Amino acid sequence: LDPEEFRRQGHKIVNFLADYYQNIEQYPVCSQVKPGYLQKIIPNSAPNNPELLEKILQDVKRDIIPGITHWQSPNFFAYFPSSGSTAGFLGEMLSVGFNVVGFNWISSPAATELESIVINWFGKMLNLPNCFLFSGDGDGCGGGGGVLQGTTCEAMLCTIVAARDQMLRKIGRENFGKLVVYASDQTHFSLNKAAHIAGIDSENFRVIPTTKADEYALCPKSLRLAILNDIKEGKVPLFLCATIGTTSTTSVDPLRPLCEIGKEFGIWIHVDAAYAGSACICPEFQLFLDGVENANSFSLNAHKWFFSTLDCCCLWVKDSIALTKALSTNPECLRNKASELNQVIDYKDWQISLSRRFRALKLWLVLRSYGVTNLRNLITSHVNMAKHFEGLIAMDTRFEIFVPRKFAMVCFRISPSIIISQVSTKFGHEEEVNKFNAKLVESINSSGKLYLTHGVVGGTYFIRFAIGASLTHYRHVDIAWKVIQDHANALLNQSSV
Ligand code: PLP
Repeated sequence: LDPEEFRRQGHKIVNFLADYYQNIEQYPVCSQVKPGYLQKIIPNSAPNNPELLEKILQDVKRDIIPGITHWQSPNFFAYFPSSGSTAGFLGEMLSVGFNVVGFNWISSPAATELESIVINWFGKMLNLPNCFLFSGDGDGCGGGGGVLQGTTCEAMLCTIVAARDQMLRKIGRENFGKLVVYASDQTHFSLNKAAHIAGIDSENFRVIPTTKADEYALCPKSLRLAILNDIKEGKVPLFLCATIGTTSTTSVDPLRPLCEIGKEFGIWIHVDAAYAGSACICPEFQLFLDGVENANSFSLNAHKWFFSTLDCCCLWVKDSIALTKALSTNPECLRNKASELNQVIDYKDWQISLSRRFRALKLWLVLRSYGVTNLRNLITSHVNMAKHFEGLIAMDTRFEIFVPRKFAMVCFRISPSIIISQVSTKFGHEEEVNKFNAKLVESINSSGKLYLTHGVVGGTYFIRFAIGASLTHYRHVDIAWKVIQDHANALLNQSSV
C-alpha cells in the first residue's frame, strides 16, 4: 500500500462517486438488465497482469452501473430507504482506511470504546431507559449496554440464542424441544430464519394473525391466548419479537401490554425497530417506545433511516451477561490482561463472528456532523413529504390509502370500485384488483423514472411509497405522483377499450 498512490487513486474514486451522485437522476432507478448480463461481458478469469484504475473505472461505468439499482436516487421509494450521507460515507472511509479487526478491546481499544460511547449516545437520544445503557450513567439495573452488528437478522439470532441458553440453564437442555418463539404475521421473516438457525422448529414457531381493525398490530389478547394454549400443551414460551414499524405497512405493536405479558410469563421480548426506530429520536414518535423498559432487547438499523451507510444495526440489551454467556469464546491466542481482569468489553462475545469492523466511526461522524437537532429535522422532513404525498392521493378519488400512515411510508392502491367498473372481471374481484395494481407497479418500475415496491396483507395487494433517500425533495415526490397518475391513466384507458 503506497501512500502516494493511495492518495492519487483515492481522489479519483471520490471524484467518480461525486459525479455519480451529481448525475444519479439520469439512470433508470431500478436496474433494467436481464439475469446473467454481466457473465456475458466480463472475462471468465482474473487478469494475469495489473490493470490501471482508470481502465477499471471505465468498466464500472460501462458494465457495473447499468446493473445497479440506485438506492441513493432521489426517485427511490422502494422497500425501506438505505439513507446515505457524506458523514456516513466518510466515517465508513475512515473505518475501511484503518482496517482494524476489533474483536476484543486490546485488538483496537478505540474501536471498542467508541462503540460503547456512541451506542450510549444513541440510546439517550431515543430516551431508552438507563437499564439498556452502559453504566457510569448512574443506572440502577446494571448489565445493560449495546453493540453494533451488521443486520437485524444477526441481532435477532443473538438475542434468541441468549434467551434460549438462559432458559435451558433454568429448565434443563432436555427440554429444548418445548421452547416456543412468538411472532405476528407481520413480523419480519428474518425472525423465522433466526429461530430456525437457533434450533426452534417451525412447529414451535407461533405466528399470531393480525387484523385490519388493529391496523395489523399484534393484539395482546391473542398473544396471551397463544401462550396459555402452549403452556397447556406442556410447551415453554421463550421469545417474542414485537415490531415498531413492520415491513409491509409500518404498523406498531403495542409495547406496554405485550411486554407486561412477556414479564408475566418470563418471555424474552425483543423489539425490532429496524426501520422506524430512528424516528423515535423525534419527540412525536417517542410514545411508540412506551413500555420498552419491560423489554429485554431493542434493535434498529441505522443504515435504513439514520444516514449511516450499510451495515449498521444497533442492538441494546438489558442483561448483557445473558448475551455473553451464550456467545463468548476464550481461546488462548486472544488472552490478554485487560480481558482477564474484566476491565473491558470484548465485543466478539456480543455477536456471531469473531472479526468485526470499526462501525462506530461512521455513527460517530453522523452524530457529530449533523447534531441531534438536524437529525430530528431530517427525519421530520421525510415524514412531512410523506404527509404531502398522502395529500396528493386524497385529491385523486381513483386512489385509496390502504392503512393510515405512521412514519414516512404511504400504503395505497387504485380503488377496487374504479378497477371493477373499468376492467372485465375474469377472476374474483379481489384478485382482479390485486392484478391491476401489480400491473401498475410493474409499468412504473419498468419506466425507470422511479422505483417502488408492494406489499400483500390479508390478501390485499397495495403499493408502498417509502420516503427516506437523502437526495429526495418535494419536487421528486410531486414528479413521482405525476408518473404514478400517468401510468394509472394509461392502464385504465387500455382496460376500458
Ligand atoms: N425487521 C424489519 C422491520 C425490517 O423492515 C427489516 C428489513 O427491511 C428487517 C427486520 C431485516 O433487516 P436486516 O436486513 O438488517 O436483517
